[in-house]
Amino acid sequence: MNNMKRDEIWVICDRHDNCSYEHLKQMIGKASELGKKASYSVVVVCIGEMTKEQCEELFCYGADKVLLCTEEYVLSEREFANCLLQIIEKNKPKVIMFPASVYGKAVAAYTSSKLSGGLTADCIDIEYEDGEFSFSRAAMNASIVAKIMCVNSEIELCTVKNNVFPVPEKDTEEKNGVIEICEWNEDCLEKDSKVEVIKIEKLVQKSKAPLDFSNIVFGIGRGVNEDTYEIIKKLAQKIGAEIAGTRAVVEAGVMGKERQVGQSGINISPNVYVAFGISGATQHIVGIKNAKLVIAINQDENATIFDYADYKVVADVNDIAKALCDMIEVETPN
Ligand code: FAD
Repeated sequence: MNNMKRDEIWVICDRHDNCSYEHLKQMIGKASELGKKASYSVVVVCIGEMTKEQCEELFCYGADKVLLCTEEYVLSEREFANCLLQIIEKNKPKVIMFPASVYGKAVAAYTSSKLSGGLTADCIDIEYEDGEFSFSRAAMNASIVAKIMCVNSEIELCTVKNNVFPVPEKDTEEKNGVIEICEWNEDCLEKDSKVEVIKIEKLVQKSKAPLDFSNIVFGIGRGVNEDTYEIIKKLAQKIGAEIAGTRAVVEAGVMGKERQVGQSGINISPNVYVAFGISGATQHIVGIKNAKLVIAINQDENATIFDYADYKVVADVNDIAKALCDMIEVETPN
């Protein structure tokens, strides 16, 4: 390895798996924020198919360069990583961000072990301070958020959860971004492998999930009884909000697991999150950390959720739900 200065933050675009375009933009936005602080440039690496227009659009979200490696094969995780390792050898990034998709995680693990680089999985935040990057993730059975630093590691890798960073505003001013076509050789392919990847199919259309895109989300907690839940659903319908819940209500069968927000569920980033009867356990909070405005309704004035709320309503959630119905003229169920 030569002594080339490492001054690039890479964002890996995984076109094979569940990494949506929104997820990619969120990572580019964060990389750009870090890049400005650290004076690093932001490079998006795409191994797969990407049109010139798609590459150019990434410059509007904060990318300075796109490394495009066109491949016609369906690459296994190891093959993708082998290909990436070839590109890394030539370019020397400091930080590499992968989407925390199944495919992305496997590639990240293989790549980091080959490079002996530090890897933080399922990141919910990345910071840069005093010349060092730190990566936050839930730890110890999701009871704390740990800040991880990769000491003694030339290269730092992480996988980033969906919706933990906001999608940056599109900057439509003309950009001087560079698209560089990367060559790779076929040594990357595992020709003797006993596993042949024929096709990779998306299991879940995560990018189409309504909770990913809703501006307003009503979060339901154990403090909401059955009747009030029906009222809140009507309110949500009237104003076009989506319903989500804590693990407590999902486990009670009130709604499906796909609506569970938090550490063992999904992350959401609505403009407004209204927490109805939710205590504010860390495992729930990590799922809403990117909500722009949080309104919490809880009858316990010391509820932890209030530490994270912009507006605090200390009241019985049943009364508030009924009052809201009156205000916006929603008929309450009998
Ligand atoms: P509670 O903690 O019981 O809180 C109910 C709240 O409602 C209380 O604050 C109470 O004051 C209030 N309340 C009651 N009645 C009223 C009323 N009439 N009016 C107003 N307020 C009222 N949780 C998640 O949400 N998502 C996860 O992904 C998740 N993953 C987890 C992973 C692990 C490994 C572990 C150990 C736990 C996880 N949890 C998760 C569970 C989490 O620790 C909490 O138990 C859960 O979030 C609590 O849900 P809750 O706030 O609905 O219920």
